[in-house]
Amino acid sequence: MKFDNTYFRDLEGFYASCDAVIPVNPKLIKFNNTLANELGLDITNLNLTAICSGAVKPNGAETLAQAYAGHQFGNFSPQLGDGRALLLGEILTPSGVRFDIQLKGSGPTVFSRNGDGKAGLGPVLREYLVAEAMHALGVPTARALAATTTGERIQRATAQTGAVLTRTASSHIRVGTFQFFAARQEVDKLRQLADYTINRHYPEATRSDNPYLKLLEYVTNNQAYLISKWMGIGFIHGVMNTDNVTLSGETIDYGPCAFMDYYDANAVFSSIDKQGRYAYSNQPILARWNVARLAEALIPLIHKDADIAIEKATQIINNFSNIYESYWLKEMRRKFGFKTKKSNDTELFDSFFETMKNNMVDFTLSFRALAELSEGNPMPLRNLYVNSSATDGWIKTFKIRILSEVGIAKRIRQENPIYTPRNHLVEAAINAAEIDGDYAQFEQLLEIITNPFIDKPGKEIYAKPPLMIDPNYKTFCGT
Ligand code: AMP
Ligand code: MG
Repeated sequence: MKFDNTYFRDLEGFYASCDAVIPVNPKLIKFNNTLANELGLDITNLNLTAICSGAVKPNGAETLAQAYAGHQFGNFSPQLGDGRALLLGEILTPSGVRFDIQLKGSGPTVFSRNGDGKAGLGPVLREYLVAEAMHALGVPTARALAATTTGERIQRATAQTGAVLTRTASSHIRVGTFQFFAARQEVDKLRQLADYTINRHYPEATRSDNPYLKLLEYVTNNQAYLISKWMGIGFIHGVMNTDNVTLSGETIDYGPCAFMDYYDANAVFSSIDKQGRYAYSNQPILARWNVARLAEALIPLIHKDADIAIEKATQIINNFSNIYESYWLKEMRRKFGFKTKKSNDTELFDSFFETMKNNMVDFTLSFRALAELSEGNPMPLRNLYVNSSATDGWIKTFKIRILSEVGIAKRIRQENPIYTPRNHLVEAAINAAEIDGDYAQFEQLLEIITNPFIDKPGKEIYAKPPLMIDPNYKTFCGT
């Protein structure tokens, strides 16, 4: 593997060098050959089991744990850092795109506090499935390169199989990384980090009069875009703390995340999110809150006069909602298959959700049913409703709206998945692996959700919500 470790080389003082714990009896469960090919990784002579479990440090790797802080559920922790993750290093794709390779669950680091630095098989498989589904759905995301088991049992609420996830991301620089140095008032380090980030992700910003303000603008824009993508597929991240918000605009740190079955604006699945801070419909609001924390951290770089800096940063943050709304509108037009723009589209989309409300209507299937509806068959959509006539008024408006659209059904099918990693499917796959050591369900589910737009005859069960939805279903971050 040809590493080129700029974080290690250029950012001394931003991390702690660390080694992975040697696993007792490592086994490779899954390796993502497709991703390896996309990244141009030459794996022919590599011992993947050893590398992906942390047993062997590949030549050229400089394993390190990154320092960062973060607001967790609104409360600031000045020091979090990689407590159960280890950066192996960076690699360039043949076309020159840089990405991180990171192990998650490879043992304690200086940032582990009371944690063991390990990961359970369940959370590893969940992250693998969800990250790869997100990628297939066109959402910017960190990706899963491999999953291994370590041969160890780890203690959680119950004993679990120890595992390591190998993931890739365009970087792991977080809002919390900036907060770490801002909180310590280490302005030189803050500038160094901002320069590094600009150089790595937003080199165009150097052409601006104020590159740091421009950086904030790019990040704000990319977060708004990212959340619009989450909202478009009914995804709830569950733990949008500032330490889980990337500067690159990719989704990272899949913990207690979930796709909703039936539409519920207040959907929360995370067992630790008691107040519903990161509920589905709160996500745009919290994303704005998160970029405002980045803005705060960047103040000393934006202008030497703090009042001027605050004014400039505030303008950008105040614009978040507008940017988000326009991305959301674009996302909905895409999902509805609209090529044309009509002034009352927002109203049509809002009333679609309004109609779904309180009717236990499946999110994914209702969008997909728009294809048949646009072909003149309202039954698939109507059948999703407890009270099937509840949607009739909306259907009339939709029919009028699509008179000016050509080829709409095809577009709807291209843009709206049939298959998402539904909670009960993910849970079943994890349980089969954890309890019976059986990975067939994981493999099958992975295959289905990574090709989510095309109907697979015989696999209807994967497209459907469970017969009984557990209204108290909770996901756990697995820490
Ligand atoms: P997360 O919930 O993954 O965003 O993690 C929040 C913080 O807790 C990060 O600093 C993690 O590194 C740390 N953490 C989570 N799980 C563990 C663990 N098992 N051992 C050590 N640190 C952990
Ligand atoms: Mg995290």
